[in-house]
Amino acid sequence: MDAPRNTSTVARIVVLAMALIGVAVVAIVYAPDGTAPLRTAPLWMPLVVCLAFGVAELAVFHLEHRREAITFSISEVPSLYALVFLDIRVAVAVRLVGGLAAVWVTRRPPLHKLLYNAGVFALEIAVGACVLRTIVSWSDGSMTWVLAGGVIAVGVLTVVGVVLVCVAIAQFEGDFIGTALTELRSSVWIFALNATIAGLTLAPALVTPWLSMFAIAPIVILWIFVRQQGKIGQTLRDVESIQGFAGRIAGEVDLDGIGRATVDETTRLLRARQAGLVIFDDEVALMTISAGIPIVGLPVRTDDLRWHAVLHGVDDESLGGGRVDDLCAAPVRSDKGVVGVLVMRGREGAVESFTETDLSRLRTLADQLAGAVSRGLMHRHLQFEANHDLLTGLANRAAFERDLTDLRERALQHASTAFVVMFDLDRFKEVNDTLGHHAGDQLLVEVAHRLTRVTEPGDLLARFAGDEFALSGLRDSIDDIDIFVRACTSAVARPFNIDGLELVVNASAGVATQTGDADSAAMLRRAGDADSALLRRADVAMYHAKQNHLGHEFYRDEIDRRTPARLSMLADLRTAIDRSGIELHFQPKLDLVANVVCGAEVLARWQHPTRGSVPPIEFIKVAEESGLIRSLTDLVLEGSIGAIAALDARGHRLGIAVNLSTQDLLDELLCDRVERRLEQFGVEPTRLTLEITEGTLLYDGPRTRSTIERLHQIGVHLSIDDFGTGYSSLSYLRQLPVTELKIDRSFVTNLVVDAQDETIVRSTIDLGHNLGLQVVAEGVETNDVADRLRVLGCDIAQGYGICRPLPFDQLTTWLVNTSFATRQADPTRPLPW
Ligand code: C2E
Ligand code: CA
Ligand code: CA
Repeated sequence: MDAPRNTSTVARIVVLAMALIGVAVVAIVYAPDGTAPLRTAPLWMPLVVCLAFGVAELAVFHLEHRREAITFSISEVPSLYALVFLDIRVAVAVRLVGGLAAVWVTRRPPLHKLLYNAGVFALEIAVGACVLRTIVSWSDGSMTWVLAGGVIAVGVLTVVGVVLVCVAIAQFEGDFIGTALTELRSSVWIFALNATIAGLTLAPALVTPWLSMFAIAPIVILWIFVRQQGKIGQTLRDVESIQGFAGRIAGEVDLDGIGRATVDETTRLLRARQAGLVIFDDEVALMTISAGIPIVGLPVRTDDLRWHAVLHGVDDESLGGGRVDDLCAAPVRSDKGVVGVLVMRGREGAVESFTETDLSRLRTLADQLAGAVSRGLMHRHLQFEANHDLLTGLANRAAFERDLTDLRERALQHASTAFVVMFDLDRFKEVNDTLGHHAGDQLLVEVAHRLTRVTEPGDLLARFAGDEFALSGLRDSIDDIDIFVRACTSAVARPFNIDGLELVVNASAGVATQTGDADSAAMLRRAGDADSALLRRADVAMYHAKQNHLGHEFYRDEIDRRTPARLSMLADLRTAIDRSGIELHFQPKLDLVANVVCGAEVLARWQHPTRGSVPPIEFIKVAEESGLIRSLTDLVLEGSIGAIAALDARGHRLGIAVNLSTQDLLDELLCDRVERRLEQFGVEPTRLTLEITEGTLLYDGPRTRSTIERLHQIGVHLSIDDFGTGYSSLSYLRQLPVTELKIDRSFVTNLVVDAQDETIVRSTIDLGHNLGLQVVAEGVETNDVADRLRVLGCDIAQGYGICRPLPFDQLTTWLVNTSFATRQADPTRPLPW
């Protein structure tokens, strides 16, 4: 009844009350047979009836079920006495005095409500009196008719009272008919019962008023009995509802769902206008769920002083421990302490303020809730663990991947670019190994902080495993992403202070994107599952960045080894190797001192049926990764050693150099194969040089070294290729049985114009000679470079300036026609090495 109350409704109530009083006055004035009592009564009668009205109003009790409340009162008894024994005006007066006094004492309603009550009381009596007097005047006025008429009049009077109360309710809530019908339907049997009881008490009093005293005892007993039953029934219904509530939330694990069900149930079960549930996790409020207007001032910590009595006043069962201001509150306690507080405010229904009973119901509800809240908290923790990395608190891989689909869709909707960056710390393993896991963990947490600070709202940062972090988000353009990733890597590059030590740890980052247009999305989908394609691409880009020390790199098809193009290339390469589709080209080497062609390097060539000629760098890589390299090397060795014999037969005594790859040196059978081929063609081992790149030497030291040792033992020459690009230390080179250094062409080609290159080449030549090695310069494109090399003391030159790599036939022609002399097949003249 306490819905928005504005002045116009109040005014309407006042007007209605006045109207009721007016109608009552008219009814009294025009009552049939005047206002005099129907039966004479002793002088104490008005006083007793007045008191009885008060008691009846006080002894009222309500049965409440859910939102419905049925009110029981036995004001019918004094009403009937008043109608029969009192002057109508006196009857109205005692009704008003007794009734209003009791209403005031129990409810203290606002004045307009009190006035309305007065109108209702007055009109009830007036209408009852008119009905009774009409019946009596139409009949013979005997005792029987007074009794029957009285019962009917009291019944009518009660119905009039209910209807008038409904009129008032309708002023606030509307729907007069609906309210009145519900009210009458649920209470009509009570009215009939009360009217009959009133009739029973009247019967002896009609004989002589004193006899009414005999009726009082059974009424009081009956009354107490019914009231008790009502209370028990009410308790049972409450228990039922509370258990029903416990059942409804039994299967719920989501805290929000539990909270919502709880506050809804609190407002219904306890007829509260507002309800709130605060759930604490680790003594701090995790969430507050409200029904009705949210309650302000709820605790945010379990050690809140104002709320201490409610949350921790374990022994205090009085209202004091359950009240803060006008709120009723009960703690939700689990074995881990207080996990929540359930609060309600504003009693609705028949009673205006909460009672002890309400508070104990609230406590029961809170107790029922404890299990569910603990379960919800546990579920939440588990969910957190399932979706987060516990060290850094960031999302984990599962959560990150789950978010990707959504991210790509948002990119399409907003026509922006979705990106995934993978980060990998460059020296993390070292930190872990040398400083311990504790330092490693500290570093990871700090990296997580730094990256978090750079991220923008909407970005998602995750830690996958070890030192791998991933970041996703949306930006307007690739440029924005580039700037952002740079900011990330430089945030990580700043020195860290771990256990008082200053550490510099760089991160390599790989970026994959999906632009906002449908094409880009479709392209990703073609690459398989679009989400994992995006992740895989970022990973590929990251490895590329790491290997090439690029800091960060965007994904491109060219750096991807697993693109469909690459996979089809693998199949074609296998066919080419099997069906001699690989051709050998020979690039002559010039002895700079004697100005004589002294040898040639063999370079593999592959003419792809549809793609044309594939650069060796590309197909050698594919062969290395797929294990095809053995067959390829074997094929090249066979062709090269065969070529030595064939050239000998044509009168050219040349040394031939063959390139080996990393995998070849790990192959324990390589030596046997080389030996077999040499024997097969009857070629001396010294005519064969095997070129090994610097990088290869660093790979799996012991196995590589043993292969190199054995090759040396059988008499094959070994050369360090691409010298200057790697980091091989001099002391290491000295230990190896190599006979030649090949200066990488990147230093040679611009030798004459670049002073720095010249310095490098000069010192490399000196270094090689100091170690007793022969020095070859590759990438010699001009005569100037050849001349300068000669001045610097370089032994051998190779490059386009001398001759491009040629097929065997063209090589033999070139050897015949070249202006350079060629070494003749004269076994008595020694080779330069
Ligand atoms: P590499 O061993 O350094 O071979 C020399 C490369 O330099 C060849 O490239 C050659 O064509 C090129 N070259 C020669 N003179 C000049 C010049 O004056 N200027 C310039 N700019 N380049 C010149 P190519 O044939 O593309 O071979 C590339 C790489 O592929 C080789 O580098 C070698 O590492 C590898 N490779 C080639 N054939 C084989 C093989 O049969 N087996 C193995 N494992 N690797 C091979
Ligand atoms: Ca080479
Ligand atoms: Ca080289």
